[in-house]
Amino acid sequence: AEAQVRQMQKMEAVGQLTGGIAHDFNNMLAVIIGNLDVAERRLDDPSRLSRAISNARQGADKAAELTRRLLAFGRRQPLSPRVIDANALIAGMSELLERSLGATVRHETDLADGLWRVHADPAQLENAILNLAINARDAMPDGGTLRVATANISVAEGSDRHRDGLRPGELVLITVSDTGVGMSPEVTARAIEPFFTTKEVGRGTGLGLSQVYGFVKQSGGHLRIRSTPGRGTSIDIYLPRHEGEAEAVRSEHRPADDDLP
Ligand code: ADP
Repeated sequence: AEAQVRQMQKMEAVGQLTGGIAHDFNNMLAVIIGNLDVAERRLDDPSRLSRAISNARQGADKAAELTRRLLAFGRRQPLSPRVIDANALIAGMSELLERSLGATVRHETDLADGLWRVHADPAQLENAILNLAINARDAMPDGGTLRVATANISVAEGSDRHRDGLRPGELVLITVSDTGVGMSPEVTARAIEPFFTTKEVGRGTGLGLSQVYGFVKQSGGHLRIRSTPGRGTSIDIYLPRHEGEAEAVRSEHRPADDDLP
């Protein structure tokens, strides 16, 4: 029954998604058609004609951008998972984060000692953290603090975390938190929906969190959003721990380096 409910929610999301896109696309077509009509009727007036053509062109460019985004979204990149050290990956991102956050947002990290390794695509994990950091920055227009933290988590059978929906086992938790505007419960509930955005047209695509969610799910993990309006937001990414230390060591010491004369 639970799977059925989830399937229904999914269908509903797809319905809202296609409805919204069809609506936007229709508006763009209306602009194009309307301006072509004007152009046809005003062949005698070069300035009206050129304005109408330019407006039609703009509408067509917008429609092309929308389909480009849709195609990019549908074309999920295949993952290339590797054994990675999440702490090292996060530490390696500090310059990138600083550059992306701007001067008014402080950036701190709180990395767990002896963090377990995860099996995930490093480029996609980096991309996910960057996406979350950019959302955090947008949520702190007057400045604030972005915190990236890691922790080792053990989910026991029947524990609170298990009851909250986490699969029992050993997990690595990566939390990206901000001290920004936060989200209402309604926005929190819809935040991962593709194309859901509260940002102005042109600023938000509504794809950031849905991409992060897709990556985390494909990696066998969980995503959780905790947010308090006026206080801030924390996004938790739980990834399964990589079992088997031997492979971890091998993947980091490339034999080719040892073979050099
Ligand atoms: P976008 O950032 O393009 O709007 P997202 O999917 O990344 O798309 O986010 C969807 C919506 O969720 C945002 O428009 C915003 O309302 C809300 N949101 C996401 N992250 C945060 C955050 N850290 N703080 C407050 N609101 C957020």
